[in-house]
Amino acid sequence: YFRLLEQSGIRLNPAQAAAVRCTDGPLLTLAGAGSGKTSTLVCRTGYLLDVCGVDPSGILLLTFSSKAAAEMRERIAGLPGIDAYAAGRIQARTFHSFCLWLLFSQGMQKEIFGDTRRQHIQLQQLMRELSLQDAYPPENLLALLSSYKVNLMTADDLPDKSDTDRQMKRILLRYEAWKEETGRIDFDDVLTGAHALLKQRPELLDRLRRRFTHLMIDEFQDTNLLQYEVVKMIAAPRNNLMVVGDDDQTIYSFNGARSEFILEFEKLYPRARIVTLDINYRSVPSIVGLGNEVIRHNKMRRSKTLRAANGGALLPAYMRPESADDEATAIVDHINREVAAGRRNYGDFAVLYRSSSSNRAVLEQLVIRDIPHIDYGDGRLLYEHWLVKPVLDHMRLSINRRDFDAMPSVLPTLYIARDKGMAHIRQTDEARPKKGPLVHLLTLPGLKEFQLDKIRQRLEVIRSLKGLVPAAAVTQIRQSFYDAYIQAGEHSEQTSHREMLKEMLDELETSAGRFDSIVSFLAFVDDMLLRNQQTAAVKSQAQGNRVALMTIHKSKGLEFPAVFLIGASEGTLPHASALGADSLRDTRVGLEGEASYAEALEEERRLAYVAVTRAKEQLFVSSPAVQRGKKAAVSRFLLSAFGQETAASDAAVRAEYGGRRGGAPDPGRFGKVRADRFGRSGTSSAAEAPVRTQSVPAWLCTSGSCVAWTRIMHSKDMNAAHKPCPLC
Ligand code: ATP
Ligand code: MG
Repeated sequence: YFRLLEQSGIRLNPAQAAAVRCTDGPLLTLAGAGSGKTSTLVCRTGYLLDVCGVDPSGILLLTFSSKAAAEMRERIAGLPGIDAYAAGRIQARTFHSFCLWLLFSQGMQKEIFGDTRRQHIQLQQLMRELSLQDAYPPENLLALLSSYKVNLMTADDLPDKSDTDRQMKRILLRYEAWKEETGRIDFDDVLTGAHALLKQRPELLDRLRRRFTHLMIDEFQDTNLLQYEVVKMIAAPRNNLMVVGDDDQTIYSFNGARSEFILEFEKLYPRARIVTLDINYRSVPSIVGLGNEVIRHNKMRRSKTLRAANGGALLPAYMRPESADDEATAIVDHINREVAAGRRNYGDFAVLYRSSSSNRAVLEQLVIRDIPHIDYGDGRLLYEHWLVKPVLDHMRLSINRRDFDAMPSVLPTLYIARDKGMAHIRQTDEARPKKGPLVHLLTLPGLKEFQLDKIRQRLEVIRSLKGLVPAAAVTQIRQSFYDAYIQAGEHSEQTSHREMLKEMLDELETSAGRFDSIVSFLAFVDDMLLRNQQTAAVKSQAQGNRVALMTIHKSKGLEFPAVFLIGASEGTLPHASALGADSLRDTRVGLEGEASYAEALEEERRLAYVAVTRAKEQLFVSSPAVQRGKKAAVSRFLLSAFGQETAASDAAVRAEYGGRRGGAPDPGRFGKVRADRFGRSGTSSAAEAPVRTQSVPAWLCTSGSCVAWTRIMHSKDMNAAHKPCPLC
């Protein structure tokens, strides 16, 4: 079988081969990024089918994201000796989809209530019914409930020590009852439902145990207790369970993931075989070196250092642009240049970022320049987001108080149902065609006093926008109805949703800051919306060949020839929430008291590690000097990785490049010059492939005015946005 694999171009190293051959009993593979964990899992599947004659429907492969599951299925289908029929019978799924499959297979007929927005509206409704109107942000309530469920508890277990505790518990118990009464289940219920089913139905569990003879879990470090329990139950008593993971890539602890399960696994199954992989096959040595260097500073980890199997002397590139918009221009310029020169395809590039709203500028540039791209977020522009649209629509009303199209998004912010509100507006307008739709609302029958107040306030806000520059208008609107919500952090157990809203509004303000009148800003927004619709056609034509945009969380397990890590600035990566800037707390609060910031910061560092290790050949890191309207220092993760480079190396680099002006250095030439410093060959007993030692890459601070990607170390100036770099 291994010969067969080799013939199809897959040459496993001895450690990987040992894991593949180990087909009986528990097996743990703990290894760094790009060391071939997923590949080993895929090849082991082939081995089980081809050599051990295991029935394909007896294999259950679980992973974290649907993209990773799809990729796993694809890789299995591409293995030698596997036909499409066999590949189709293997269960390769996400935990969630597996549990859903289980529930449906048992005749569950509930509606999946998975839309966060609908959940929020429902919770607001229930709070009103309990006369606790707006007492708690819905996302906090949901996060609290979720943190209990993934730890095998229910709403009944919620604390009731203080008034706040009791109120939250009351709301959540009501929410649970409402779902039960109306035949709905939400995202977490899918997992708890499957778990309960297995507990209550021994004959079903027995059937599953007989069917799934071999279980494998990828990305094991991001498993939560509930998922782990489900797996343990199905694997027992045979325990043919292989788990692969990397404690350095635990990035879902807000979802209850615990890398401690890796340690627990060894205790639970003392007979478990442990295989360590330490050769990175994904990236060039400088990227492997950077990854090692970034993660080295975490304390809560098992220490491991990866070596690179591949050669290649390209160095990570760094840029410190003035703003996110300059960053985006430089990135898209670079992509265009590379594609025009025939060096790369669009599909070779990925842009990664910490939080979803930070792709605004890059997305705009891609849309404006008609570059095929795919956004793995919700695929919408910032301006289309349901939380941002009302802000824009208030601005529209300020320049045209009879803009009826603006009303549907404004109505919910006044707690008025859309259909009812619009019907009344239309009706009233026939009788009083001169007034604006907001004024018409004042006569809507059945309004409560607080709603009337809100309408009057809103009319006032809209009047006050006249003559403001667009950025000031955004500030004014958010102050009037979003900020109170954003700042309501008092009871917040989980603030990611509010944080997201805040970031989106900051981003909107930044975007608006480029225009000097509300009219011109709105014209730009409309143009973007139109273009985005038009490029949808281009997008679908381009098939796989598109620039990928995704959050670091989504990029886990994936790889790309060239990666841009954008927004590598303090406050963004590490995220403000981990810096304690706004007294944010973490989901596990209800369980463990204040989560420590050190822990949160380590998770941010793991995110940086995941991002850096996605790149195969080229990595571009950039830290805008101004991020969402505020000055931002270079991310501490990069400073700690590069800070120790000496001034001598700056001088050496300057001597090499002295006099060369503008444009990115010629990669071929650069590669040659640098080859002596990076990628020196080492030896390895584990692999026959030549293995290279890693080294910290040299790098460069380009000054704010230099937008070419350059690669020279100049660590002292990293925070000085306006100093010219040696090349300028
Ligand atoms: P991550 O931690 O990011 O999930 P991983 O450990 O799962 O990474 P893989 O995705 O399996 O790593 O492999 C990384 C890259 O290395 C892939 O491109 C894969 O094809 C390649 N690879 C894995 N094993 C080998 C090998 N023995 N020889 C050559 N290439 C390999
Ligand atoms: Mg993997």
